[in-house]
Amino acid sequence: MNIHSLPETHSLESIGFHHREGLYINREWRAAAGGETIQVVDPSTETVLAHVADASVEDGIAAVDAASAAADSWRNTAPRTRSEILRRAFELMNARAEMLAQLISLENGKALRDARGEVSYAAEFFRWNAEEAVRIKGDFGFAPSGANRIIVDYEPIGIALLITPWNFPAAMATRKIAPALAAGCTVILKPASETPLTAYALAALLEEAGVPPGVVNVLTTSKADDVTGAIMRDPRVRKLSFTGSTGVGRHLLAKAAHSVLSCSMELGGNAPLIVFDDADLDVAIEGAMVAKMRNAGEACTAANRLYVHEEIYDEFARRLVARMDTLVVGPGVNPETECGPMITRKAVEKIDHLVSDAVSRGAKRICGGEITAGSGYFYPPTVLGDVSLDAAMAHEEIFGPVAPLTRFSSEEELINLANNTEYGLASYIFSRDVSRAMRVARRIESGMVAINRGLMSDPAAPFGGVKQSGLGREGGAHGVLEYLEAKYLAVSI
Ligand code: NAP
Repeated sequence: MNIHSLPETHSLESIGFHHREGLYINREWRAAAGGETIQVVDPSTETVLAHVADASVEDGIAAVDAASAAADSWRNTAPRTRSEILRRAFELMNARAEMLAQLISLENGKALRDARGEVSYAAEFFRWNAEEAVRIKGDFGFAPSGANRIIVDYEPIGIALLITPWNFPAAMATRKIAPALAAGCTVILKPASETPLTAYALAALLEEAGVPPGVVNVLTTSKADDVTGAIMRDPRVRKLSFTGSTGVGRHLLAKAAHSVLSCSMELGGNAPLIVFDDADLDVAIEGAMVAKMRNAGEACTAANRLYVHEEIYDEFARRLVARMDTLVVGPGVNPETECGPMITRKAVEKIDHLVSDAVSRGAKRICGGEITAGSGYFYPPTVLGDVSLDAAMAHEEIFGPVAPLTRFSSEEELINLANNTEYGLASYIFSRDVSRAMRVARRIESGMVAINRGLMSDPAAPFGGVKQSGLGREGGAHGVLEYLEAKYLAVSI
């Protein structure tokens, strides 16, 4: 079902967002040195929502200057003080939750219900890391030779450059900013050009929470390669934390080699969702809907390949289509919407190309599968049956509301199918047999496995991938370690 109506809250003013056009450097809002701006487009209507400053290399270095000037004082700020600032950020974010959700929905297009979920998830990173800030511990022991004591101290790694994507504009930023601040690092955030307004809203919120000048800096740029390249070459910068596509991640890793930067990489995914013949189908359908359709499929953890045992394939397909076909598609800010638009026209064209390719190789269009006419970057919820293993979508991220179904008959065949990818971020297993689910989970090459559920993201758990899905973990006890260096002191006894 498609809806076209736009609620009255379809503008930045009506949601109560005070937009400032400048870059956020040293707690000041400044125009870009070249005076240029970037357009922010509403994907539901293709109209211009706002303009933001377009930073040059000079602005990038100004942000490093600010982060550097603040570095000593922030690393020496008492952990309790850093913790309380993060806690205030958590409280402020919850107090502003509805405005932030509407802002995300406006600039990203995602359904308001998904945006509300994102704000709550994003805020939790502030709470979790407020708790981590006062629990950073070292180690103490004796050298086996008896010659000295071994003391291991953890120190902030230094200035961190944080680069984030458009699909979770709040959560991908707080998942990096919060542990960095807890560890005592100062940061420069470069959000995606499609969704900069949420990043600037977070900067204002952190200022209100008490973050001192220079500790958090935010800049948007249409020249990401040049501006982040100059920041990464600056010897004062010691950390790069990137979330985005595997292609850009590889490129940044090569560039980071120049200064031997510490890198955390959260990259693309190609998650298998596996339904065994003994699965509870109600649970499996519910889980598949969440794993596939949260964020309209624009998630790195989105189920990209659905492998269903041949004995239950037809029944699973019938039930999945019944759910997908009745989803309400429309502008994200409309409270009834369940599937919003894609981020850009280019994203819609990529999905369409992947669907046509699969169909040309024998897949059946069971529902959806055609670009939606009219304004806005919409693609309908789609189910494809009997997708062959040589279809491009079996190997590439779809990043849209398309569920490709493939039959399997044995556990061994299934493991080979699931692991036949360069990615290894997330996977989903549905089975009533817990020992089978655990056995398969151990053999699947992915950083995260959800068993009998469609959602695994949790600020208290380590999020990240293996193979070409990334390096390092965000969240849980691991998150803050990405921003700390161990220092070993050998002390004579
Ligand atoms: P993207 O094209 O890789 O862009 C991500 C960020 O990198 C944006 O801020 C972008 O800036 C910037 N960027 C692009 N090229 C750059 C360059 N040469 N130098 C420096 N920065 C550069 O990814 P996306 O399309 O925004 O996001 C979708 C991807 O992110 C998917 O592959 C998804 O799986 C992945 N993702 C992974 C996770 C995870 O935790 N593993 C979470 C969410 C998303 P501009 O916008 O200005 O180009």
